[in-house]
Amino acid sequence: MQKKNKISLKNYNSFGVDVISSNFNIANSEQEIIDFIKKNNIDEPIILGGGTNILFKNNIDRNILKIQIKGIELINETEDYVIVSVGAGEVWNDFVNWTINNDYGGLENLTLIPGNVGSAPIQNIGAYGAELKDTFENCRAISVETGLLRIFNNTECKFSYRSSIFKEKLRNKYIISNVTFKLSKKNHQINFSYKPLEEIIKNNHIFNPTIKDISESVNKIRSSKLPDPKLIGNCGSFFKNPIIDKIDYKKLCEKEKNVPFYKTSENKIKIPAAWLIEKCGYKGIRDGNTGTHDKHALIIVNYGNASGYEIFEFSQKIKNDVLRKFNILLEEEVNIIDK
Ligand SMILES: Cc1cc2nc3c(=O)[nH]c(=O)nc-3n(C[C@H](O)[C@H](O)[C@H](O)COP(=O)(O)OP(=O)(O)OC[C@H]3O[C@@H](n4cnc5c(N)ncnc54)[C@H](O)[C@@H]3O)c2cc1C
Repeated sequence: MQKKNKISLKNYNSFGVDVISSNFNIANSEQEIIDFIKKNNIDEPIILGGGTNILFKNNIDRNILKIQIKGIELINETEDYVIVSVGAGEVWNDFVNWTINNDYGGLENLTLIPGNVGSAPIQNIGAYGAELKDTFENCRAISVETGLLRIFNNTECKFSYRSSIFKEKLRNKYIISNVTFKLSKKNHQINFSYKPLEEIIKNNHIFNPTIKDISESVNKIRSSKLPDPKLIGNCGSFFKNPIIDKIDYKKLCEKEKNVPFYKTSENKIKIPAAWLIEKCGYKGIRDGNTGTHDKHALIIVNYGNASGYEIFEFSQKIKNDVLRKFNILLEEEVNIIDK
């Protein structure tokens, strides 16, 4: 276990917020996590992966535990599929590239999502028509209260849109040390139904796309559309896309023209939060050191030396305005840490 006192978290969060951590710890193995919990008898340390979905509002006095467990291991293999076990500290996109290079299918649509493998189940990461839950077998996780290890299978994780049991009932109660995936070896389920992906595949005259083609196409779309946190601090989408009742959607359409939507079930409609925010006049605006990205109203950015508090306050202005104008309460996708 590595321990550091009084360090800046600027390089440990993709918003680039400069707050001080008084108790920063790095775990390189499962045993180190277990020992840390037993020794410190701490409930609820702040668990940190790549810091790409977290906003620190203030300096942090509580223990931070950064999970840095490495390793990719093939633990089972048949003619059709492989079972792969991955350390929580592996960088997500490095692992995706590893699967593509080995021609293992299932993660290609999730190319270039920032962050680490251990954080991926927390909000069931998703993009371009795929979600983590589609390939997730199980994860190993350690209770922050008892230090005991438990294995959660796919059903037990209660995955849903940008959520899981680890964001709801068991929020901050378990530290994921390892994630296991089931990936195809042949007859890959190629999915390019998402419009921009379909377009890029067609425009490049690819008739039978491989997982490599999908991964490269996703890479191109994401690189052209999303701000690189190394160049401008951000955490991707700040809010989730709200899911509302069909009746409320109809009422909204009486007031607004051409409201974009995706049907999620018979009676539920998902509205792009970016559209709601843009309609409130927030796309590409600057407010002090913070603001929204000029291509994406849903992405709040750090234009310079914004404090976590400043970014948070700005996000609440957006939230209040959307509520006032549309009577829709946005929910944060980014994890807000008070202190
Ligand atoms: C430019 C950009 C684009 C993005 N695009 C997408 C996208 O398309 N789809 C998507 O789903 N997300 C997207 N995100 C959000 C982010 O990439 C994911 O949420 C990612 O899984 C966060 O990983 P992380 O390691 O950085 O997590 P962190 O920010 O370090 O942590 C996130 C949460 O998980 C908890 N946590 C971290 N590690 C563990 C662990 N081992 N055990 C238990 N809890 C843990 C933390 O306490 C925190 O609550 C984007 C972010 C950026 C910056």
